[in-house]
Amino acid sequence: MAKKQIKGWDYSPAPESTSHIDLKKRYDLYINGEWVKPSSKKYFKTINPANEELLAEVAHANEKDVDKAVKAARKAYNEVWSKTSPSERAKYIFRIARLMQERSREFAVIESLDAGKTIRESRDVDVPLACNHFFYNAGWADKLEFAFPNRKIESLGVAGQIIPWNFPLLMAAWKIAPALATGNTVVLKPAETTPLTALKLAEIIHDSGLPPGVVNIVTGYGDTGAAIVNHEDVDKIAFTGSTGVGKIIQKAVAGTNKKTTLELGGKSANIIMDDAPLDQAVEGIINGIFFNQGHVCCAGSRLFVQESVYDKVIEKLKHRMNSLIVGDPLDKNTDIGAINSKEQLDIINGYLKIGKDEGVEMYQSTCDIPGNGFYCRPTLVLNVAQSSRLVQEEIFGPVLAIQTFRTVDEVIQKANNTPFGLAAGVWTDKGSRIFNLTTKLRAGVVWANTYNKFDPASPFGGYKESGFGREGGLHGLEGYLKMN
Ligand code: ADP
Repeated sequence: MAKKQIKGWDYSPAPESTSHIDLKKRYDLYINGEWVKPSSKKYFKTINPANEELLAEVAHANEKDVDKAVKAARKAYNEVWSKTSPSERAKYIFRIARLMQERSREFAVIESLDAGKTIRESRDVDVPLACNHFFYNAGWADKLEFAFPNRKIESLGVAGQIIPWNFPLLMAAWKIAPALATGNTVVLKPAETTPLTALKLAEIIHDSGLPPGVVNIVTGYGDTGAAIVNHEDVDKIAFTGSTGVGKIIQKAVAGTNKKTTLELGGKSANIIMDDAPLDQAVEGIINGIFFNQGHVCCAGSRLFVQESVYDKVIEKLKHRMNSLIVGDPLDKNTDIGAINSKEQLDIINGYLKIGKDEGVEMYQSTCDIPGNGFYCRPTLVLNVAQSSRLVQEEIFGPVLAIQTFRTVDEVIQKANNTPFGLAAGVWTDKGSRIFNLTTKLRAGVVWANTYNKFDPASPFGGYKESGFGREGGLHGLEGYLKMN
């Protein structure tokens, strides 16, 4: 394997082994504790976006299959899960968490193969956090009356859950763990480009001895998701994905009794004040938008820099960007892996073309990128107007739109001036500035002097077109309960 040359430094390849993973050639649907063939007999391919090689074929569930899964979930709810004591529920959830931990390396490698994200990210962030969501929620299962004192609480029934491709395993954990802890049963659909870790999770759930039908995993495209949303016997829809599909779902559930939480797109702002520790801030900006290829719904995709430190910040950003390694997600040296799919790469390139057509100044790092697979160099968009589509729309790639500001009021106004409101970051030395900004920024999460920090105990969710409802923490449990 060729060595990577970064500004005079040689990095020998450090690939993670794939010999310890166990992938089937073909995956069926996990319904009622069994692997069931799709009634259409149709399968679709899931590939490795880093080299376009086939990983596995996966069943495409249609309305009939979804109906089977919902019926299994309803039966399991009525006959078993709603009668299982909370402390017994907790034991199953703990067992799933422990089994995931035992196989964490396998999960991490499969996640990187299927999603294109770096092994550093999947090994150190996605998989441990996914396990922690099961641990955290297991802890609440038999303490819900203390979590919501003086309230009469009841589970909802069958939860339909639809997740995207950016954090495939973590999103599955995010959705399944609180649903089980609160006594609901589940039909979950992973994204079509990243179904493999959810299917691996189905194997683990099976090994845990969870009663059949309590968790069902159905794979497919948007039509499969729509069949879940429109099924009349589903009590709750939990969706994470694009704002466009979120709107379709909201229309579909209007007038029904389905409880809904939507976690949608974002165009989150990072703000660097003139007194900020600049090196730390630059590292945080890089982490916020470039690691994980910008495939984070709360990615810090807009940057506001106070005018007096603008030149310094841009110089430091360019310097740091040029040391980032873009390439094989399984190499432990890689900072930026593969874009999740050809479609997504086309979307990102489409936005870069819009930038060129608008005549904005762009800067791309000069690193090598592999010949095969889907890759995008980290890109800065400089001095761009507030009205530009690159500032207003979610790109979901390693593209950072940068603007300047002079006063705090100006930056609050600019930062809030998008249809979204998922997250924000503030970089300053002064506590008073932090409190002033965090209370005025219309975003579900505001980080101060850090970015993209997650914890199962803290709620996550958006304002405006970034959705509604919270996941994580007690707020996350509330979304799966009837409260009286
Ligand atoms: P992204 O841009 O993150 O891929 P999408 O909203 O397109 O976001 O996809 C997120 C999830 O929603 C995926 O699992 C996808 O298959 C599913 N999905 C797409 N269209 C629909 C729909 N009309 N109804 C329900 N689910 C859908």
